[in-house]
Order: sequence, then structure tokens, then C-alpha cells
Amino acid sequence: MTKSGFPKILPGIFLVFTVIVVSGLTVHLFVSRHRGEAASVADPKARNREEPAPRPARGRLAVVIDDGGYDNRALDDFLRFPGPLAVSVLPGLPGSGEAAEKIRAAGKELLLHLPMEALGGEDPGPGAVLGGMDDETARKLVVSHIASLPGVVGANNHMGSRGTADPRLMSVVLGALKEKSMFFLDSRTTPSSVGRRVAESLGLPFLERGVFLDNETDKASIREALTRGKTLADTRGHAVMIGHVWCSELAEVLLEVYPELLDEGYRFYPLTELLQGDSPDDGAGN
Ligand SMILES: [Zn+2]
Repeated sequence: MTKSGFPKILPGIFLVFTVIVVSGLTVHLFVSRHRGEAASVADPKARNREEPAPRPARGRLAVVIDDGGYDNRALDDFLRFPGPLAVSVLPGLPGSGEAAEKIRAAGKELLLHLPMEALGGEDPGPGAVLGGMDDETARKLVVSHIASLPGVVGANNHMGSRGTADPRLMSVVLGALKEKSMFFLDSRTTPSSVGRRVAESLGLPFLERGVFLDNETDKASIREALTRGKTLADTRGHAVMIGHVWCSELAEVLLEVYPELLDEGYRFYPLTELLQGDSPDDGAGN
């Protein structure tokens, strides 16, 4: 029985085994296919489960270094910044032409740092636009400053706490910028500036300073100012942060924080790109 019965039931065992394996495989295939569909159709995010979570949207940052033309060795430290950067050069200084050349050669944006009359009798330096000038004198002065800095794309005011609050003078100054297809960055040295209002009335592309980076020049204060800039950018879509060429601590901090800011999802932009707006309904940017 043991020798003759065993072979007889062998095909039966084989059949049962085959049925179990085949149905098991069918169920497995169905479940995994179903899972795949669930992942790709019902829950698109699940497909990217292995990838890191997307970063929160960050505002755009721009850095402008003012008072170019005074110290061109200090300027070199800023031109080493790996991201986009603008440098604003004062006209008519012995070092102005060389500064402009270096900035262009480094692929950075060149601005005219237009000296304008300050409250309290502070001296804005040579070539300043003053409230007492008639329209034509002021216009010619601005146009000659622009001509002295080939490649300049925009202008911002140096000092000007009196000048930028003067609607007549600002119409003349910003009119000259418009004539030369430039934009105006209001340094906001006074809350009474009429820069935005006049620029809008002329249809002149306009930006304004969000934070000064080096009102206090120690590294901790500069980092705090950068944090305010980041917050402003996240709230408003972008932030223009202004520092000064004489602040060597700023040059160091900018190089230190650049990779950190990129890791956090921030990006630096040329001012001409900020002017293209933060979103489709943002117009020319603020
Ligand atoms: Zn300045």
C-alpha cells in the first residue's frame, strides 16, 4: 500500500499545490497593481514619498552695495560674492571710473549713486543735486552723471533726505532717469520721500530699500538685519537690502551666509529681475 498508493495521490497533491501558488500570485499581482493605482491616481504625493518635502515658498532677495568709488580695494571683497549683486557708484570721484569697470567685469549690476541734498547740512559730496537748482541745471547734472558711468542700469539716492522729499526736484531727476531708460531705487533716507509717487506718475520702474544691512557694523547686527530682510521678502515677495562698500564685516558676512540662505530656499536676484514682479498680479514690484 505504501509503495503502490503514494504515486497515485502524487498528481492530486501537485494539483492542489499549483492551485494555491497560482491563486496566491494572482492576489499578489492584483493588490500591488491596485496599490500602484492608488499611489498614482488617488494620492499623487505618495508617488514622491521617497523625495524630501517641498520647501516653503521664499521671497526673493537683492543686495545693493552703496558708496562705490571711494575704496576700490574694499569693493573687491564684495565682487567675490557668488550670487547676483548690485553696486552703486558715486559719480565724479577719482575712483568712480575704475569702480564701474570692475563691477562690469565681475558681471554685477552697476547703479548710479546719485548724491542729493540732505537735511541738516550734511555734505553729499561732489555733483550733488540740490533743491536750489533750476530744472534744467538739475536735469543736465543727472544726465552727465549717467554718461560718466557706462553700463549703468538704474540709480538710487545717496543721502537726499531733503532732495527726495521735494516733488519738483524728484520729477526732474526721475524724468532724466526715464529719458535714459533706467529705474529708480529709493534708498528711503526719509519717510517723507515722494519717490514712489513721482515714479508711478512718470511710469518709471521703481523699487525701494527694505533694510539697511550695516547701520551697526558688528557681524551679529548684520546677521539680524539679514533676518529682517528675509522676513520682509517672505511677506512682500522680495526685499532690497542695502549695505556699504566701507563695511568689511558685511563683505565677510555675505560670503558666510550665502550657502546658508540657499539651503533655506532663498535666492538672490539682480534688481532688473526683481522689477519683473513677484507674481503675475504684482505689476512692476514694490
Ligand atoms: Zn550713500
